[in-house]
Amino acid sequence: MAVLEIKDLHVTIEGKEILKGVNLKTGPGEVHAIMGPNGSGKSTLALTLLGHPKYQVTQGDILLDGESILKLKADQRAKKGLFLGFQYPTEVSGVGFSHFLRTAYNSLSKALQGEDREVFITVREFQKYLKDNLKKVGLKEEFLSRYLNEGFSGGEKKRAEVLQMAVLRPKISILDEPDSGLDIDAVQSVAKAISEVAGKDATIIIITHYARILKFLKKLDFVHVFADGKVIKTGDASLADKLEAEGYEGTLKQYA
Ligand code: ADP
Ligand code: MG
Repeated sequence: MAVLEIKDLHVTIEGKEILKGVNLKTGPGEVHAIMGPNGSGKSTLALTLLGHPKYQVTQGDILLDGESILKLKADQRAKKGLFLGFQYPTEVSGVGFSHFLRTAYNSLSKALQGEDREVFITVREFQKYLKDNLKKVGLKEEFLSRYLNEGFSGGEKKRAEVLQMAVLRPKISILDEPDSGLDIDAVQSVAKAISEVAGKDATIIIITHYARILKFLKKLDFVHVFADGKVIKTGDASLADKLEAEGYEGTLKQYA
């Protein structure tokens, strides 16, 4: 059964239709990429999946493990194992990164009880668990004592999001442009970190404008081309190379 199924999803923002019938299915353990030009609605799709109240679903459905999540609020969706790494992560002053992670981890573990997770691990145990994961994403320990994203560079914010994914182990992670604002070396290490934390049952959806991050992934099962508010073509990893070689305009013409 599909983990996530998006069926004919139509979404409007302030009366304007942005998503115009998105269809997409992901299975356990799969890595998907959504590629598309700027302004095509990729972030709108990500925020709609998360349950952002600004985005109004006018038609279609979103199923998680076969059940509609449309009526659930963002925090309820998160407790079902949905995680979103934002294109522009916000700085949260006053909330310690380490404290934030432990609270989020315990809350998710409680919600997903019985799925091979420890609930309410102690601060000390949790610090150890965090340190193991920090190495994977290439962040220094000092970040744990800082406020969430405050003063983090672009690359550090992206790594911090991959760290959240590694620590929380969500069922579905949607990463919105994890490569934006990164230099080439950082793109490679973020991609490696994503591959490293991709669990055997977890689904990962990477939204990106450029193919370069995808080349560094250990595994990429499907590439979806997104244009004008919908998926217009799905293929394997070679589709990303084709897009890069021919550009969006050239490729989109063929599917118009
Ligand atoms: P992408 O992530 O593919 O670059 P977005 O989903 O950010 O595209 O944007 C798709 C379209 O929706 C754009 O035309 C954008 O201006 C519009 N849009 C996105 N968010 C809002 C918003 N909060 N209010 C009004 N328009 C928006
Ligand atoms: Mg975007």
